[in-house]
Amino acid sequence: MSTTALDPLPTEPEPEATPRDLRAGYQGQPGSFGARAAARCGRPVAFGTFEKTLRALLAGDIEVAVLPAVNRVAGAILEPLSALAEVIERGETALHSLTVTEEIAVPVRLVLAAPRGVELDAVREVFSQPPALRQCGALVKQLDAMPIETHDTAYAAFRVAELGGPRAAVCSEEAALEAGLVILLEDVSDIRPNATRFFRLEKNPAETPVDAPHVAYYSGAKLTGALAELSAELLTLPGKPEIPVRGFALVPESAWKKAGALRAGVGEALVWLGASPTVTRPPRIAGLPKATTAREPKIVTVGPFAVGGGKRAVIAGPCAVESPEQVMRLAKAVARAGATALRGGVFKPRTSPYSFQGHGISALDWLKAAGEAVGLPIVTEVMAPAQVTKVAEKADVLQVGARNCQNYDLLKETGASGRPVLLKRGFGTTVDEWLSSAEYLLEAGCEDVMLCERGIRTFENSTRGTLDLGGLLAARLLTHLPLLADPSHAAGKRGLVPGLARAAWGAGVDGLMIEVHDAPESALSDGPQALLPEDLEELLDEFGFLPGESGSVERVRHAIDAVDRGISALVSRRLALCRRVAAVKRASGRPLRDEAREATVRARFAEALGSEAVNAEKLADALISIGLEAEGWKEEGR
Ligand code: PEP
Ligand code: MN
Repeated sequence: MSTTALDPLPTEPEPEATPRDLRAGYQGQPGSFGARAAARCGRPVAFGTFEKTLRALLAGDIEVAVLPAVNRVAGAILEPLSALAEVIERGETALHSLTVTEEIAVPVRLVLAAPRGVELDAVREVFSQPPALRQCGALVKQLDAMPIETHDTAYAAFRVAELGGPRAAVCSEEAALEAGLVILLEDVSDIRPNATRFFRLEKNPAETPVDAPHVAYYSGAKLTGALAELSAELLTLPGKPEIPVRGFALVPESAWKKAGALRAGVGEALVWLGASPTVTRPPRIAGLPKATTAREPKIVTVGPFAVGGGKRAVIAGPCAVESPEQVMRLAKAVARAGATALRGGVFKPRTSPYSFQGHGISALDWLKAAGEAVGLPIVTEVMAPAQVTKVAEKADVLQVGARNCQNYDLLKETGASGRPVLLKRGFGTTVDEWLSSAEYLLEAGCEDVMLCERGIRTFENSTRGTLDLGGLLAARLLTHLPLLADPSHAAGKRGLVPGLARAAWGAGVDGLMIEVHDAPESALSDGPQALLPEDLEELLDEFGFLPGESGSVERVRHAIDAVDRGISALVSRRLALCRRVAAVKRASGRPLRDEAREATVRARFAEALGSEAVNAEKLADALISIGLEAEGWKEEGR
């Protein structure tokens, strides 16, 4: 784009409003779990009741309200949900679309704390908020103490400190310390680890996040049944004479479309707190409905290759298919490393007409044979509409290269080929233009479109291109299509490829395309940027790919060694943290050993390792025991 003297100077875009600018209301006082949830949305503003919090939101005094909705132990949290239901039943939300824009999970570690000098057995009254008391029913029963309800957990701690005597509070550790109480028991929830999910509520939000939860208020028995059929999570509220069956439903993404068929019968109500499933959302970029309308992430699958929606892939292989032997050798090497697709160019777009142009269509058979030998799908570039049909007969994925990103005739032809398409971003193409090109492919009938950032042209010339991770992240907010990065063409130099690959992987790309060669000095194209097969192995081990089955035992052991090194480093950090927590415990006069906490650690491992739970317990036991050793705990010191 040229700039004439009359054009205004480009200005830095205004930074978006920071969460600090938003006022986030919660019920309770500083130090409560509600305050923590509010702090994740903006500047926390405390209210005495849930009703007042909601009224402030509707009146525009605050921009966000956080309401605790579900606790892992106690289930639906009735007080705040009832307050929200009342507001909806009174019709107060009809004018403003009240939207749940996010679900915020706050870990809840409740402790039992008392004034200094009060022994556990002496406690006669336990103060806390009703939902918190419900979360530690076993403790309350065991103590044989009278539960006293307060309006939040932090207040319970202050109240107990103020009153003194044989009283204790169930609250967070921070609130207990803030109030000057001594912790008698830690982590007292009936189920550990415990957490509470809060609804982040907004009035007429400018934009509803794509991953906002689907929450509806419902009433009526038939509707309840229909929602249950959709596997909605039902947060049932106590009935009222005129509305005996009511509550809130959280509809899973997988049932969202079907929820569009739900109808409230006579005497029933269905109010979506956010977009209703029947409303078709406008595309995020006008004119690009197929590429930029909010949808579930697209997963493109070809045999062992799956990319998008949490599935991550690596396409690796030589820049160009040079000979049947070369591509067979490299296919074996990349499969052994753990790559999930094989690449290789047979038509090469070269800057100089005198450079190697590729062996053409005959090389496609060499690439195909190599892919079949190792069980990997093949990815290859098409440069001209006339090549498409022929290449699509054999290639599993067609690539449109950077130089052809805006070659619309080629896009139309490739999009109609019946094969998935990997679209490279042109080096002078904006994210919007890149998505426009994707729209051409989708419009031509291709459902499996993948986008690949490969370095754009900037003033910087120390690298071949500038890998635009910012652009990739921006694209993530605009499209549901899988996003890949090609660090090889961006770097142009072998030594820079692993670093860029890690940066892209860390930024959350769905996949990588990496060039590999076993004799880069004699490669016919792009030798200087090709990784050696062993470099690829190192990288794919780091990213957690499984080495190919055809690899050697030594290769797999190499990967296991890398895992062991990682575990050793984590254990060593865990021990350092154990020594640190011991110091904190000693300083605050707390016992070193905490069996409830140990149960939490065991539960976490059992949950994470699932069917391997028995062994998970053993692993947790070993960690706990060496942890205690590091803390300086000795049997006789009990
Ligand atoms: C390639 O992948 O071999 C290639 C030529 O890439 P790009 O189109 O990104 O330059
Ligand atoms: Mn190349």
